[in-house]
Amino acid sequence: MADAAPTPMMTQYLALKAEAGDCLLFYRMGDFFELFFDDARIASGVLDIALTARGEHDGEKIPMCGVPAHAAVGYLQRLIKAGHRVAIADQIETPAEAKKRAGSKALVARAIIRVVTAGTLTEEALLDARTANWCVAIGEAAGGVAIAAADVSTGRFELVETDAGGLSAELARLGGVEVLASEASAFEQYATVLRPRGEFDSTAAEARLKRVYGVATLDGFGQLSRAGLAAAGGLVAYLDHTAKGSLPFLRPPRIGNAGEAMAIDAATRESLELTQTQQGQRKGSLLDAVDRTVTGAGARLLAGDIGAPLMDRATIEARLDLVQRLHDDGALRESLRATLRSLPDIGRALGRLVAGRGGPRDLGQLRDGLDGAWLLAERLAPLTSPSPVRPEPVEGREHGESSRARASTSSARTEGGVRPLLDQLVPRLQGHGALIDLLKRALVPTPPIDASDGGYIAEGYDAALDDLRDIGAGGRRAIAALEAEYRTRTGTSTLKIRHNGVLGYHVEVPAKAADPLMAGDSGFTHRQTLAGVVRFNAPELHELAMKVTQAGSHALAAEAAHLEELTQTALAGREAIAATADALGRLDVAAGLAERAAEDGWARPTLVDHACFEIEGGRHPVVEAAVQRSGERFVANDCSLSETSRLWLVTGPNMGGKSTFLRQNALIAVLAQAGSYVPATRAELGLVDKLFSRVGASDNLARGRSTFMVEMVETAAILAQATPQSFVILDEVGRGTSTYDGLAIAWAVVEAIHEDNRCRCLFATHYHELTRLAERCDALTLHHVRAREWKGDLVLLHEVTEGPADRSYGLAVARLAGLPPSTIARAKSVLAKLEAGRAKTGGLAAGLDDLPLFAAAIEAEEEGSDAVRAELDSLDIDALTPREALDVLYRLKRLAHND
Ligand code: ADP
Repeated sequence: MADAAPTPMMTQYLALKAEAGDCLLFYRMGDFFELFFDDARIASGVLDIALTARGEHDGEKIPMCGVPAHAAVGYLQRLIKAGHRVAIADQIETPAEAKKRAGSKALVARAIIRVVTAGTLTEEALLDARTANWCVAIGEAAGGVAIAAADVSTGRFELVETDAGGLSAELARLGGVEVLASEASAFEQYATVLRPRGEFDSTAAEARLKRVYGVATLDGFGQLSRAGLAAAGGLVAYLDHTAKGSLPFLRPPRIGNAGEAMAIDAATRESLELTQTQQGQRKGSLLDAVDRTVTGAGARLLAGDIGAPLMDRATIEARLDLVQRLHDDGALRESLRATLRSLPDIGRALGRLVAGRGGPRDLGQLRDGLDGAWLLAERLAPLTSPSPVRPEPVEGREHGESSRARASTSSARTEGGVRPLLDQLVPRLQGHGALIDLLKRALVPTPPIDASDGGYIAEGYDAALDDLRDIGAGGRRAIAALEAEYRTRTGTSTLKIRHNGVLGYHVEVPAKAADPLMAGDSGFTHRQTLAGVVRFNAPELHELAMKVTQAGSHALAAEAAHLEELTQTALAGREAIAATADALGRLDVAAGLAERAAEDGWARPTLVDHACFEIEGGRHPVVEAAVQRSGERFVANDCSLSETSRLWLVTGPNMGGKSTFLRQNALIAVLAQAGSYVPATRAELGLVDKLFSRVGASDNLARGRSTFMVEMVETAAILAQATPQSFVILDEVGRGTSTYDGLAIAWAVVEAIHEDNRCRCLFATHYHELTRLAERCDALTLHHVRAREWKGDLVLLHEVTEGPADRSYGLAVARLAGLPPSTIARAKSVLAKLEAGRAKTGGLAAGLDDLPLFAAAIEAEEEGSDAVRAELDSLDIDALTPREALDVLYRLKRLAHND
């Protein structure tokens, strides 16, 4: 029947599916989650499970597939990884309740209890322990743009003011797994999820936030702009939507300012491979080369630090002081790291508990983690300043800790700068004594993940629970005794008393021994015959079993009540626990950086007030490791930029080490301002406000847009934005086009950077002609990577020295790369011809020496147009005769041509 009315179940399904929208719908049926129609097709493909069919809808078989509910997490993980979102429709009543409600044929009521999305996860199995999991929302209001970002696995919540131009850099910094924007907004291009416009309304958002935090005013959080409210509102609405009303963990928002971190745009991040490589891997990134943290919290924090180097010298120095202390005291570092390594991830355990997805093991983790933190604080306390520090009451930090405004005035800042980091951290490690004691008494040493089987509340915590357990245990002993008795009574030594979910306790005998029990007066009642065994019940067993089961379910209920109470007690201190988790992470970062520095003899950078960049013996941590792996030595290089020598032009053969040199210096700036030691023997630098890195087009062929166009757009951004405090590396810019165009552009870019931006800049090029710029740009100096030809072979020394390269060694590099000798020979003769031509004409750059100075050229042009304008201004058009008018036109044309 093609147009049969849909079954009640199908009607229910379709309504839920409509609610789920573009999410896949997991529809609970018995022990399975089933998917239907297109959802089934998609899931069976991603999960590689069988696609079957069931019933009919609109005359078609309904495609379907399913996953067992107890193993759903693993399947969810794969679907989320593949970019899907999944709505979970579960049964919200038991079949018995449904029958009572609406008769024997009643359909069990179902509802979407949660939408599982990449940005709203808390489950350990679904998350990477060492990576923060940001869900990001973009909001706009009153002409401003802001980003709200939450990692609900630990409750972190950030609000950042930005603008249309800075948006993509901020998004790149956070690397959110989900990005939300309002439908029909200008930000659709950045979004992975579009949400209704109303959710980003700043007025509604204000009310929503007040409700979330249970406050009458948001003033305590610092200055919230309308755009910030809009973004936060959109984010909270989405969290609410995915968790279906039970909001996950959100700490008070920390309000970030645009100028507090070094500005690093998306292209620079990608090019420098700060936290991931251009292929999206962590391995091979700067972060990977630096990270020696031993906890998930530390790793997450370090990734954030490297992604957002600081601009505040005092805060950087405070971080460096702690790193130095741990660097200099190896024994302290070792013991600190050993302790940290053994501690559970309390930040994430807390996130699960708040979201209502926690269990006994999470409470156990809080107990062990907080206990460990306490002990650590006792060990570190002697290292803190004796006065005037009075440990703040933990509760007092509730909001201040997360609000930048307060954190900087009340706890971290002092008159002379910031308080030593240890003085800030140690008090945060303690203050949970009562909770630790309670959890120690209440929980068994290793509580299970799942509460459903009980057994997590410790003996001696609750006398009534102990009694119930005794009854259960006594019953089980009595049942064991009964087994022996039954064996004697029936003369069947193979008789066993067993337990399963369907029959409960029962007697089981092999089929061939069943006869005596089958007899009418045996006292046993037949329950089930299976291949080989027969199962029975018996009155005494039934009675004992009842007792055991009842005691068991009462005990389970008692444990569940304790779990709920313990969870609530723990959550009352959620802010302070989160602060402890942060403090542990910060200690781990410092100890990890100290460890890294000690491994390879890194140096503490010195930060100064003027825009210099003095590096001795600088190295590239990633390339160095690769070079060492292949058994070679990495050559350390110096770099010296100052206000009078701001721009280094670096020439030399391909593969000579130019890119490596450029990047290592940019990475040193990042590390220094993140509060790390740097791979150099000495480093002194003035703070870098903006960092830019651009690589000439041909290295980035993977991109879709015209690569030369990308190169020019990105270079334009540097010229527009770099300040005298900025640091710019430009690698072969201009090579994405023809030689003449490329040289001309490179020439003009160097001039503009030198004259206008006046930033610190390293510029690598293979255009030898550019070296002539040294004559006209006084803060530009020439450098090259050394190479030597030895017995016909090219030896790349990877050493940066002063002066221009004497030649380009292009053919030698080609030979090194294995170009056939015949081709090399041919190239040599072509080169000889070209060089002869160059000698005659003056070469590619002939005539450049006559080029007026950059600024002078522009002035001349402006003068020209000004003269035309002056002439036009002075004209009285109405008074002109036709003949005079013609004369004026000729004159104007001459003026425009500047002759
Ligand atoms: P270029 O930019 O001049 O073409 P690269 O910086 O890409 O050269 O370096 C090419 C290779 O040379 C690197 O992959 C690395 O193996 C090696 N190399 C670069 N710099 C050094 C160095 N300072 N010491 C040792 N090997 C280096």
